[in-house]
Amino acid sequence: GLACKVSCQQWLGDDRPVATLPGRFLMNIVPETSSRVFNFSSGPAALPLPVLERARDELLELPGCGASIMEISHRSEAFSRILESAQAGIRQLLDLPENYEVLFLQGGARLQFAMIPMNLLAADSHAEFIVSGSWSEKARDEAAGLGTVRTCWTGLDGAFCQLPDPAELELDETASYAYLTSNETIQGVQFDEFPATGNLPLICDASSDLLSRPLDCQQFGLIYACAQKNVGPAGVTVVIIRKDLLERSRAELPGYLNYAEHARHGSRYNTPPTFAIYILDLVCQWIANEMGGLAGIDQLNREKAELLYDLLDEPSGFYQGHAKTSCRSRMNVTFRLPNPDLESQFIQSAAEQGLTSLAGHRSVGGIRASIYNAMPIEGVVALRDFMADFRDKQMEAT
Ligand code: PMP
Repeated sequence: GLACKVSCQQWLGDDRPVATLPGRFLMNIVPETSSRVFNFSSGPAALPLPVLERARDELLELPGCGASIMEISHRSEAFSRILESAQAGIRQLLDLPENYEVLFLQGGARLQFAMIPMNLLAADSHAEFIVSGSWSEKARDEAAGLGTVRTCWTGLDGAFCQLPDPAELELDETASYAYLTSNETIQGVQFDEFPATGNLPLICDASSDLLSRPLDCQQFGLIYACAQKNVGPAGVTVVIIRKDLLERSRAELPGYLNYAEHARHGSRYNTPPTFAIYILDLVCQWIANEMGGLAGIDQLNREKAELLYDLLDEPSGFYQGHAKTSCRSRMNVTFRLPNPDLESQFIQSAAEQGLTSLAGHRSVGGIRASIYNAMPIEGVVALRDFMADFRDKQMEAT
């Protein structure tokens, strides 16, 4: 890949003055000798280079341990420190109050589709679902096999290109909980504001945007994310749950599927995914120490998304964005070209220039550029320049 070897000169090709270039971001770019690409994968996705380098340096010997992180007990002092640091990292970044528990579980976000109703949905009640895309749809369908659900809003008619106005949602307050997905990874629609649900606990699947922006978690009874987009590698799922909701978990549930059991054992009910938690801890440190915390990363993520959306908005109409302007995702930028043949050419030609994994989800096609925390702005500038060039060539040819 050539495009990944962004020199300062190319970077300056972006028409902003040198003084605005945040030096620290340059640390996340590969050296000239590397063949690492700009990877726009939707997940598992790019990880911050400094995190990978540190993991590489410590892979054989965790400092002071004489063994790899993958070779030590999950009850050892060294791993206990990592687990505590990871929990503290999440707490500090999100400014979580004491009445929330942070759990590190396995089974991905998909297992949460089942664990949430198993633990929180009362037999004589129902769950309210806001269906804004493929992932909330799948979560609703899973819950429907375990209890009663009601779809209180769906964007299905508009091919999930829009979101409800939170103030206009009519939620039944007698429900066990209301459920939504903060960022629909496949369609690329993202909530900026959430409905105020009062005593009705709001549950949020934040798999593809947790730790990408400041978030008041007190709006939620439970918020969770699989790690493999912004938070770490596949294998660990972060579940943040308000402690009073743990009382709903019935003792008859199988141990692993019971939130209260995991909380009682401090995320060590069984052997947790130690390596994934170790990386998650490094990612939290990277966000806090090198990216200016969630406010800093949010600023950068906004700039990155704007570079691409500005191009989608330009008058030629060559690129057609999927999401309505008001709910565009800053994590997954989804768009189409005039026809599927051009889309295939686009994907292939981008890959040849070191801009990879740009195909849309297999269920919807089109193009999807996932620009999570670890995608440096240089990668987005390179994609934008590629897109402008591709468009010009195609338009000249017709
Ligand atoms: N929810 C969302 C919003 C997702 O993006 C994904 C994964 N792409 C999932 C759920 C499912 O996650 P997992 O594969 O970890 O079960």
